[in-house]
Amino acid sequence: MQLWVTEYQTPSMGLSVKTTDMLLLEKSEFQQVAVVRTVQFGKMLLLDGIIQTTETDEFVYHEMITQIALNAHPAPKRVLIIGGGDGGALREVVGHPAVEEGIMVEIDALVVEASKRFLPHHSEGFDSPKARLIIDDGIKYVKNNPKAFDVIIVDSTDPIGPAVELFSENFYRDVANALNDDGILAVQSESPFFNADIIESVYKKISASFPITKLCLANVPTYPGGLWSFTVGSKKYDPAEINNPRPKMEPFKYYSGEIHKASFILPPFVKDIIS
Ligand code: SAM
Repeated sequence: MQLWVTEYQTPSMGLSVKTTDMLLLEKSEFQQVAVVRTVQFGKMLLLDGIIQTTETDEFVYHEMITQIALNAHPAPKRVLIIGGGDGGALREVVGHPAVEEGIMVEIDALVVEASKRFLPHHSEGFDSPKARLIIDDGIKYVKNNPKAFDVIIVDSTDPIGPAVELFSENFYRDVANALNDDGILAVQSESPFFNADIIESVYKKISASFPITKLCLANVPTYPGGLWSFTVGSKKYDPAEINNPRPKMEPFKYYSGEIHKASFILPPFVKDIIS
């Protein structure tokens, strides 16, 4: 039997993945949550039919969305993750030796439950004594917690439904207020090939609240076009530099000191998007 799942990544392009099992298909208050077992990528989490993460390529995304900001900051003690329900970003945050507390504010408890049930490596950070999970709207949470964090990571879905506001100028202003005076923000900012408008708008909006704003890139095969962008806003430190004096780098699978710097070197067509 052939069972394929297709994500329509743009109105005229799709990614099809051969699957062997449907492990979960449930509707929460916010979205349809699905987990399938695929032949190519291990288990895969989809929200409203959009691929969020897979066991095989998650390391690229989760290392890059966290380690750049964590290592650009000299002392990232308190870290907030908004979204990130699968737990991959939390695992990276609580695994960092400088972090004392990693708080994750995810709107949908079903995503967390699905990950705990089916994605053991993604979700192992939930058990860390440094981890705190809050099920709530991240937009509300940042408004109510001024000057509380060294690093904030926005690991959101695409700008649809409850995530729309996570791409707004007001939200980035509230995030800047929730950070300490030398804080750093890192967000996933979509595909340079298919979402240049989003990258341009996120870059402008983050620049309005952060004196230093930079874009970096990584390759995530299951995201549209493969090439993926992250936008980093910083109040003091250059995000392209490693300012955290760590005794040694863990054996990451994608991130390294060289990748940290190299990921900020942009091809001309990406430079054009943010110039
Ligand atoms: N890496 C993924 C991607 O880009 O495809 C996204 C990972 S994570 C699963 C995204 C999470 O953001 C989802 O679990 C979703 O429920 C959560 N989310 C969306 N809007 C939110 C909000 N306003 N507050 C908190 N979490 C939110």
